[in-house]
Amino acid sequence: MTLPLIFAATSDISGKVRGKAFPADQLDKRLQRGVGWTPTNVQMTCFDGIADSPFGALGDLLLIPDPTTEARATFAGVTEHFMLGDIVTLDGEPWAFCTRAILRKALKRLHEVAGVHLISAFEHEFQLKDAPLLENQGYGREGFELQRRLCETLMATLAKNDIAPDSIMKEFGANQYEVVVGPAKGVRSADEAVILREFTRSTARSLGEAATFTPIRDVASVGNGVHIHMSFVDDDGSPVTYDADGPCGMSKITGSFAAGVLKYLPNILAITAPSVISYERLTPHRWSAAYNNLGFRDREASLRVCPVTGKDPASIARQFNIEFRASDAAASPYMALAAVVHAGTQGIEDGLKAPVPTEEDLSLLPPGDLAQKGLVRLPETLDAALEAFRSDTIVTGWFGPEFEAVYSAHKADEIDTVKDMDTPEKCTAYEGTY
Ligand code: GLU
Ligand code: MG
Repeated sequence: MTLPLIFAATSDISGKVRGKAFPADQLDKRLQRGVGWTPTNVQMTCFDGIADSPFGALGDLLLIPDPTTEARATFAGVTEHFMLGDIVTLDGEPWAFCTRAILRKALKRLHEVAGVHLISAFEHEFQLKDAPLLENQGYGREGFELQRRLCETLMATLAKNDIAPDSIMKEFGANQYEVVVGPAKGVRSADEAVILREFTRSTARSLGEAATFTPIRDVASVGNGVHIHMSFVDDDGSPVTYDADGPCGMSKITGSFAAGVLKYLPNILAITAPSVISYERLTPHRWSAAYNNLGFRDREASLRVCPVTGKDPASIARQFNIEFRASDAAASPYMALAAVVHAGTQGIEDGLKAPVPTEEDLSLLPPGDLAQKGLVRLPETLDAALEAFRSDTIVTGWFGPEFEAVYSAHKADEIDTVKDMDTPEKCTAYEGTY
């Protein structure tokens, strides 16, 4: 006999999904009162360390499940059932470290500043940990067939949970796969990204595999990126991302948003690529992101203007999107998206001019030429990225007064956990947690 349980969950600043389960027949009550939550949980790192916490043993919060995020799937006879939620104070106010509230605030600011809503889609790469049965399967049909069951189970699970399957493939890296889903409005795309990661790992486990979204497993190969595709609609739902006469087809809002993202990219990287090994992935020639550059259909760029297949103006306008490539799954999707939206909104607020796309191998340019183009090599370690975050009060200001100190202490503990490991050991530690 079993008692069905629903797991109330939060995707926290460590990028882990944590929470508590309650009997399913208490749902009505829990939608009001939630489950108890502890402020110091915010300092639980991805390695289950507890970083210095300003809260100590004090305080109480509530984690309130949101029924619009209900996720349910049966794997090998066991039904997994969870809802993502919002962390609030006992007075019902959003908590300063609730990642979903942080994203909502960023989206609200975008709307206030530019009158637009964000539509976005997360594209994920992951790897199966066992050695592949076949070598040399980049984009391979046989490599795909080896995991057809996993791919079909995952896509069906997503569809059943109102997440629109787009495509799935055998990516370039060893036992690496890429799963793409359709776009969604506001916080929903980040909700879907959390659900997708959880159900990918569950699907793999139920089939005797282990999936990891870790930023990089082997520095001799490629990393696992999380690419965020973004477009804008106005209050009537009309697309406003594209302008046939704009640079690379970008409307004025898109151009300024892109400029803001690239201007503040060095300062937000500690949030979008927040692990120690994230910086092994963010190196030239991995098709990830090493400079704060815009690519026009170029995958060696932090931000890319994507191709569209539409021919008529209305379809082009609807499909047109820009892709942020400097993030990985060590970041909670809520945090990564919030950081990008704030940076882009700042660009709109400041009326920045659209960036000029690069077309050359930036790693071959002397530093002077890079600077002339207004480009920088992105921070090369998490320490350097954190320093760049902390040193910009515009950026820290987006996240509220307490955030910077708490986040810095959180990351300091994580850095300390792996400081005596060599790079392969660090990669092993991270693939065990993401
Ligand atoms: N694996 C690359 C990354 O780390 C992305 C490859 C691609 O899909 O363009 O972001
Ligand atoms: Mg890919």
